[in-house]
Amino acid sequence: MATPTTSSSQAANTRKATKVQPIIVAREIGKTYRSGKLEVPALRRVSFSVAPGEFVAIVGPSGSGKSTLFYTLGGLTSVTSGSLLIDGADFSRLSDIERTRMRRAKIGFVFQRFNLLPTLSAMGNIEIAHDIANLGKQSKQPLDRVLLDHLTEILGIRGRLVHRPNELSGGEQQRVAIARALISRPAIVLADEPTGNLDTKNSDAVLDMMRRSSRELNQTVLMITHNPEAAQIADRILHMRDGEITHIESGRGLVIHEV
Ligand code: ADP
Repeated sequence: MATPTTSSSQAANTRKATKVQPIIVAREIGKTYRSGKLEVPALRRVSFSVAPGEFVAIVGPSGSGKSTLFYTLGGLTSVTSGSLLIDGADFSRLSDIERTRMRRAKIGFVFQRFNLLPTLSAMGNIEIAHDIANLGKQSKQPLDRVLLDHLTEILGIRGRLVHRPNELSGGEQQRVAIARALISRPAIVLADEPTGNLDTKNSDAVLDMMRRSSRELNQTVLMITHNPEAAQIADRILHMRDGEITHIESGRGLVIHEV
């Protein structure tokens, strides 16, 4: 297995020089699904760490464990072995209720199918995500209007906020979904095939904007993708096969536009 913290990217070297604590530390995590007598090992001793603000792509064939890794990072399921520290919280030791609370507070999701609520406007979708992130918090945070302005500017959706999802293009819906994920300043954003339902032009625009918002907000992003060009926007690319990280490669940190 590659040394997980090793990266030749300039950004990672700068971070190493200043000794920034990783925001994700996965140590030998394992996840085995059990149904009756059948055991399916989906993750096997996976170790890696991610620095704050890093953009990491996860690639690998179907069945290699990418979604399972996301479910564990997102607190949707527990690991069966190893330890998983996310922004200082040990997800591997939390109860289901505590993990749900941590998920709301620390994780933003972007899905392939956008998953916007169809009866709400774009703005309504962003507001409800903010409200959900506030659930269970002792002191409710007001919606950060400065951040909202900044995000809608970067994502090019300022003029589209009063519209419902069915009045928006696929690319616009995904950009609203990105704003929804970022509005609560989550410790990490997990994006599962965010461009899987988009044509090349919209896909390039969405990747550009994800990359830009990650840099400008120092937002840590992990993105599953099947598209090798999309993976190149990352600082690092984790390659998975049969539940293991087989190697880690440096990305270019840039969107490669198709001509
Ligand atoms: P990927 O996202 O790379 O396609 P997955 O994480 O979905 O991979 O799957 C990894 C392995 O775990 C596969 O062998 C898959 O069949 C198995 N698996 C995934 N989810 C379940 C489940 N809920 N129950 C049993 N096996 C599962």
